[in-house]
Amino acid sequence: MLDLEQARRDTPGCLDKVFLDSAGSSLPPTPVLDAVFAHLRREADVGGYVAAAERADDLAAVKSSLGRLIGASADGIALVDSATTAWNDFFHAVPLRAGDRVLISEVEYASNAIAVLQRARSVGATVDVIPSDPAGQIDVAALETLLDDRVRLVSLVHVPTNGGLVNPVREVTELAHSHGALVLLDACQSVGQIALDVGELGVDALSATGRKWLRAPRGTGFLYVRPELAATLEPAALDLHSAEWTAADTYRLATDASRFEFWECDVAARLGLGVAADYLLDLGVDEVEAAVAAGADHLRSGLAAIPGVTVRDLGARRCGIVSFTVDGFDPGDVRKQLAARNVTVTASLRGSTLLDMSARGLDAVVRASPHYFCSPDDLDRFLAEVRTLAN
Ligand SMILES: *Cc1c(COP(=O)(O)O)cnc(C)c1O
Repeated sequence: MLDLEQARRDTPGCLDKVFLDSAGSSLPPTPVLDAVFAHLRREADVGGYVAAAERADDLAAVKSSLGRLIGASADGIALVDSATTAWNDFFHAVPLRAGDRVLISEVEYASNAIAVLQRARSVGATVDVIPSDPAGQIDVAALETLLDDRVRLVSLVHVPTNGGLVNPVREVTELAHSHGALVLLDACQSVGQIALDVGELGVDALSATGRKWLRAPRGTGFLYVRPELAATLEPAALDLHSAEWTAADTYRLATDASRFEFWECDVAARLGLGVAADYLLDLGVDEVEAAVAAGADHLRSGLAAIPGVTVRDLGARRCGIVSFTVDGFDPGDVRKQLAARNVTVTASLRGSTLLDMSARGLDAVVRASPHYFCSPDDLDRFLAEVRTLAN
């Protein structure tokens, strides 16, 4: 069992408000903040190079910790500044020619879709959308009919930004691989709240962010690439860290996933990311997953019982994102009204998941994402505020 009181003591920001936005940008725990501040102070004291050299072992351990979190070895992890960077770094390294195909899903995140559209247009590739099934998850049978030997990449979103469903992954990777396609998993909303293992899922690559469920500083993220695959891909942009300048007209790529990294980075934030990963590993990912799922289930059943409120979550398996609308209220106004009562939620707008929201006739949904540090009182206070608002 997770120690709620300890978790709350480590999270001062959750004591004076009901914080339900870990799907947007969570509250980092005190040990993460301490690590970041200490390093910034050290940089101011001795300069960034000396300060980083002093922490070389801890910096190397960041990848091992993230690897442990997702069942990968450190050589399969590249540290970057966001999930979007991670996603694009992999996507742009996958060879794509005229006539090739890329499959995206109906709940695709806007930044991924835009990158696919841009590149498909420039190389003459086609983009097809894998529909959702009646339960709202990726339609595996439809995927099977869409696959052929021209499909180079299947982009799958593990947990969409606008709702609590968890997509099946294993079936997708098996099908895609049987047709020679790679699978890139957007795990931005699952890493940190759901136990996952890249080997079991069978994905070729995975993108994730630090600031959401992992509770790491902003400006952090990481890319996993299956090591044997990483060794065959050439990133679109290189520097003197991802490659070595070997002679006047040659260079040599780093042998592991660090070929997807640039040398310059926010070292303090990166150390904070490592502490956040260790903090989560200490708590236990399974315990966190159970606590988050229980909190979200409580919110869903509570919201469903309020007249005028519609829970918008789809899918057979659900997680920590709770999406809903309130009759007669714009989701942005719900966010504002709740903020005025010290309750933090966000509105997820149509443009972030255009295909899914358009298909469901939604312009926006309110998104509440309770992490394990939210108390039962927090959750009930949120429900009481929504009840007052709706009536
Ligand atoms: C937030 C989000 C992203 C983008 O993450 P960044 O770290 O902002 O780049 C990608 N995919 C999904 C599903 C998201 O919710």
